[in-house]
Amino acid sequence: MKVRMAKKNAIAGVRTFFVPSRTEEGVEHIVVEIKRDGRTSYYCNCNDYFYRKLPFISTNLWSGCDHVDAVKAAIEGKAA
Ligand SMILES: [Zn+2]
Repeated sequence: MKVRMAKKNAIAGVRTFFVPSRTEEGVEHIVVEIKRDGRTSYYCNCNDYFYRKLPFISTNLWSGCDHVDAVKAAIEGKAA
């Protein structure tokens, strides 16, 4: 997946990324990375995130959706 980073990020510690949907042509999901208090959190606007991932945020059971994973991989330089 090709991950784009927003050109402007107005708030320190916050970065916005755009990840194309695998299933919907021309659709991009928005992933926001927030670094605060030594923690990094990721939020995505897809349904998978909201219904299946968000309830577990800040717990050990939490994991990102495909888009969050793609952003993390891109940040770590492991983008496919
Ligand atoms: Zn997502």
